[in-house]
Amino acid sequence: MRFNLSLQDKFGIFIAAITTIMIAGLSYFYFIQLDSSVITSLRTELIDVSSLISNYINPDSIPAILAGGEGSKEYKNLKKFLRKLQLSNKKIKSIYVMVFSNKPNVWKFVADGDFDPQKMVHLNEEYDISRYPEMAKAIYGPVADQKTNSDIFGRWLSGYAPIYDRQGKAVAIIGVDMLADDVVDARQRVRDIAVIGFAIGLILAIVFGRLGAMVIGRPISALVNGIKNIEEGKYGYKIGIRRNDEIGQLVSGFNRMSDKLSEVDKLKFDFLSVLSHELYTPITPIMDSSSQLLESDTLKETDRQLAKIINRQINKLQSLINEVLDFSWLEVKEWKLDQEPVSLGALGEAALIEQKSQAEAKGVKLKIKIGTHLPTIMADKKRIMHVLKILLENSVKFTPEGGEVSLDINRVSGGVELTVADTGIGIAKENMEKIFSSFYQVEDHMTRTRGGMGLGLAIAKRIIEAHNGSLWAESQGLGEGSRFIFLLPVA
Ligand code: ADP
Repeated sequence: MRFNLSLQDKFGIFIAAITTIMIAGLSYFYFIQLDSSVITSLRTELIDVSSLISNYINPDSIPAILAGGEGSKEYKNLKKFLRKLQLSNKKIKSIYVMVFSNKPNVWKFVADGDFDPQKMVHLNEEYDISRYPEMAKAIYGPVADQKTNSDIFGRWLSGYAPIYDRQGKAVAIIGVDMLADDVVDARQRVRDIAVIGFAIGLILAIVFGRLGAMVIGRPISALVNGIKNIEEGKYGYKIGIRRNDEIGQLVSGFNRMSDKLSEVDKLKFDFLSVLSHELYTPITPIMDSSSQLLESDTLKETDRQLAKIINRQINKLQSLINEVLDFSWLEVKEWKLDQEPVSLGALGEAALIEQKSQAEAKGVKLKIKIGTHLPTIMADKKRIMHVLKILLENSVKFTPEGGEVSLDINRVSGGVELTVADTGIGIAKENMEKIFSSFYQVEDHMTRTRGGMGLGLAIAKRIIEAHNGSLWAESQGLGEGSRFIFLLPVA
């Protein structure tokens, strides 16, 4: 599975992850610290308690018990004493006395503070001390375990102290197990703190993540959006972010570039409109003169042919200039539609008639199909006619001899749909959008065999969109013909 995360999201997650790891790390560090300090104080307490108790046990009673067994007076006294001690402090889980045996690593229990026969240890019961290195050290002096043990009764820590005979020799060991409730409490506390810390951390992480993402991600999203606007031809689009760092420089660089583009774009249109106006001036007298020449009776046939050529070419030139004029006017000015009720069926027929001679000259068949119940729509008649002319002219132009161009007009939900379809050269998928850009032509300018300036579709689209309609192209690919469809909404 792939996630398409934006830069902003990635940055947010990164900051959130770092914050969470930091909080988890701090909690763990605190946990270790607290745990070890609680255990250290319990160890000290155990060493004190066990060495204190060892002083109160008569070393002579040990050999007496070993000789006399569990029935002896000394055994009973010791057991009573240990019981009393065990009950004196709630923290004490058990107290026991052990002696060394002649087997290596094996000590023997003497007695403990339990009276419950289930739990009680018995005289001479063997105990493997190889697993308890701290206990083994107790021969040399009071000591306590480093780590706690646990069973179903809870968690505890053990301390041991030697019982010395009159010569100062260790004859037995007293062991004390103390409940490590403080450790359990402390751990619980740390766990609670960690949970609260984690929750606060998570909130902080999300907040910091968002903030961080805004600082870095927002201007980048704004730049991406700005580029999209420029791509759509909105030159002069500005990003309103002010910052003093590299991102700020990038943003102001973008804004300057956008300004420059808009300047160049305006220059292009100014140039085109000035140029076309200037070209218009000499065209009118040339056109008039050639028309007058053609009307003259005294003209020789060869001269008439020349006058015809002049007349035809000057007409072509005029329509090219008209196109540029039209385009610069559409782009620059906020123009109003001259709306009136229009019958699209009649308009379609008129447009087809205009193309007739051109289509016949090329050997292309023209067809029209008008659907029933067409509503009359409010539209700028001249401009819709212009769109039909552009689309039909293109279809005739891009359809070879023997082909067919058809115009279909139909009522659809929401409006009327007009389709100009041809059996011509078709349009490749990658050019489907581009052909609507101004001056874009699929064929290279230098190798073009057909006339035109690449403005017709751009103009047509502007006109249809001004009517709140839409214009698009469809084609199965090169050589498969094309369809240009526009939808005009019924007001
Ligand atoms: P022009 O016709 O002046 O070149 P347009 O804006 O009308 O400019 O069309 C742009 C381009 O779109 C054309 O140059 C051509 O490559 C392509 N085109 C337009 N109409 C058709 C069509 N009916 N069939 C195939 N290609 C077309």
